[in-house]
Amino acid sequence: MTAQPTRLQSDIDFNREGKQVTYLRLPYSSNVSAYGWIGIPIAQIKNGPGPTVLFMAGNHGDEFEGQIALAKLIRRLEPKDVKGRVILLPMANFPAAMAGYRTSSIDAGNLNRSFPGDPNGSVTQMIAHYIESVLMPMAMAVIDMHSGGRTLHYIPSALMAKDAGGEPDPKHLAALLAFGAPVAYMVNFGENRTSSAAARRQGIMSIGTELGGTGQVSPETLKVAEQGVQNMLEHFGLVQPVAGRVKRQSRLMYVGGFEYYLHAPTRGWFEPFFDLGDAVKSGQVAGMMQFLDEPLRDPVPVAFSQDGVVICRRPHVQVERGDCIAHLATDVKR
Ligand code: CA
Repeated sequence: MTAQPTRLQSDIDFNREGKQVTYLRLPYSSNVSAYGWIGIPIAQIKNGPGPTVLFMAGNHGDEFEGQIALAKLIRRLEPKDVKGRVILLPMANFPAAMAGYRTSSIDAGNLNRSFPGDPNGSVTQMIAHYIESVLMPMAMAVIDMHSGGRTLHYIPSALMAKDAGGEPDPKHLAALLAFGAPVAYMVNFGENRTSSAAARRQGIMSIGTELGGTGQVSPETLKVAEQGVQNMLEHFGLVQPVAGRVKRQSRLMYVGGFEYYLHAPTRGWFEPFFDLGDAVKSGQVAGMMQFLDEPLRDPVPVAFSQDGVVICRRPHVQVERGDCIAHLATDVKR
């Protein structure tokens, strides 16, 4: 990461007590707006000493559960309810979120492949740089709320990364389970351009989610999102626990490498033989690639290469070679 300062400005004062809801100003001089800036919503609710936790959503713009849950939290959470500091960035990749797409409508940037970012880079790189170099160093944890977006559908899950082959840090695992999603899974650290990798560089805890997807939200997935946010606030000691609330026990799982993923070997129409939540075996035929435009062509079977449970699937029938059709998770003993 460059040592140069961010170009984003804001009237937010991170040291000030109370509730602030404002915009980050990202300078963007375009054909339709010379000297203009893009306003990215940001909020802080602070009350006295205590931990700082960063909540973000809209890292991918077509993942709506977190965006809705954080917007509601910004309206309802008051300083008197808080001990410490809650920073909220509900539409992190704002141009993507406004367009309702995964990536930015301005530079096609995928924010979660843009860390550590660049203060002099594209709009998306500037946002990534701000999150990693300004927001994360203030926090002890980041909750980055994702979903399957338009092209994937998940069993509502929370996730964390851990060292390959190593045991998870107990505090990190406790936070993951505290989210209370139906599935809580661990993945190995890999990709260094994600918010999770950024958090690791900054020495803070990172909890992610995959709450549903298909470009839709449901009452069920929104409930998981909102209860998860409340659970995180309680877990980190930012708010008093609501008495009598029953917290879900997550199914603890692991998502490994390439063999956990099913990708389309060719272009075609995928006919699935499985559903979300099914337990499957290595070698089991997952479905057939059909070639509807060539009626006499034999369909091609596609097989799973790992035992596991399908926690994610692509809802769209038409696929290109390389599209992710599904991924598996395996149970972890607790
Ligand atoms: Ca995502």
